[in-house]
Amino acid sequence: KSERVSSRGQEERSYRRPSSEPGRAGRARWRPPAGVAYVFSQEYIETCDSLSKVPNRASMVHSLIEAYGLLNQMRDQASGFCYVNDAVLGILKLREKYDRVLYVDVDLHHGDGVEEAFSFTSKVMTVSFHKFSPGFFPGTGDVTNIGLCKGRWYTVNVPLEDGIQDDRYYQIFNRQCHGTMLKWNVRAHFNPDAVVMQLGADTMAGDPMCSFNMTPLGVAKCLRHVLQWRLPTLLLGGGGYNLANTARCWTHLTAVLLGQNLASEIPDHEFFTEYGPDYSLEISPSCRPDRNDGKHLDQVVATIKRNLRNVV
Ligand SMILES: [Zn+2]
Repeated sequence: KSERVSSRGQEERSYRRPSSEPGRAGRARWRPPAGVAYVFSQEYIETCDSLSKVPNRASMVHSLIEAYGLLNQMRDQASGFCYVNDAVLGILKLREKYDRVLYVDVDLHHGDGVEEAFSFTSKVMTVSFHKFSPGFFPGTGDVTNIGLCKGRWYTVNVPLEDGIQDDRYYQIFNRQCHGTMLKWNVRAHFNPDAVVMQLGADTMAGDPMCSFNMTPLGVAKCLRHVLQWRLPTLLLGGGGYNLANTARCWTHLTAVLLGQNLASEIPDHEFFTEYGPDYSLEISPSCRPDRNDGKHLDQVVATIKRNLRNVV
């Protein structure tokens, strides 16, 4: 496969966050990664798109490998990864080099395929945040699904209801995946050597899935937390059915990764008219109610906390 995939821009680069960036004063600790590998292949993306057979599905047009350890040792291999839409292969590739890989999935849908692939192993922990509701695809991903045999306790599912917004989502994410205050978090228990994060944008407000009520800012907070672990991290796209909002979301996340500050205005380009009527990078949450019950969410978190005590 590697012969068919071209790559470009894999030079190690240094990025500096502009010191004058507005609205980020409280996040002074965040620093962009020292090196980012950018892998791009139009041919491969088209192949993956044709395989997905999902009409109007937007696949992330590039994969970004944030590469503290990866750049030097794996530069020549990165171009061959099917990173555009295949998380399982990415994890398997990382497993050749890293013992424990953490998969974090913030797509609207349960990451059932990845969970199933690694449900019997303790070397890959899958953590999926998703809508879990009767009749909603794929119908799996209850908090009680925790893995099997040797993989028992290494599957983490965070079922959520419609209408969740940035602050609450990040609260839950923070409690699961990060927090020096909390000794039981996923990273401390599992202690991964590398991370794969799936950044599906079908959680955005305005998505035809009409479920969550997120904006790119909320997902970006989750992304920053994963990145500040300073582990080799592979970032993937995912679902996203409002194409303009999906592009907005992934543009924002790419900028976060690169430590760049983007102007709000959408620049003039071939698809400019898709971004009306406001032609701005931001996405505003809708006024739909948040259906998540606070007590139920606390119970979900408490259950996961108990389960993680079994991870060794
Ligand atoms: Zn999805």
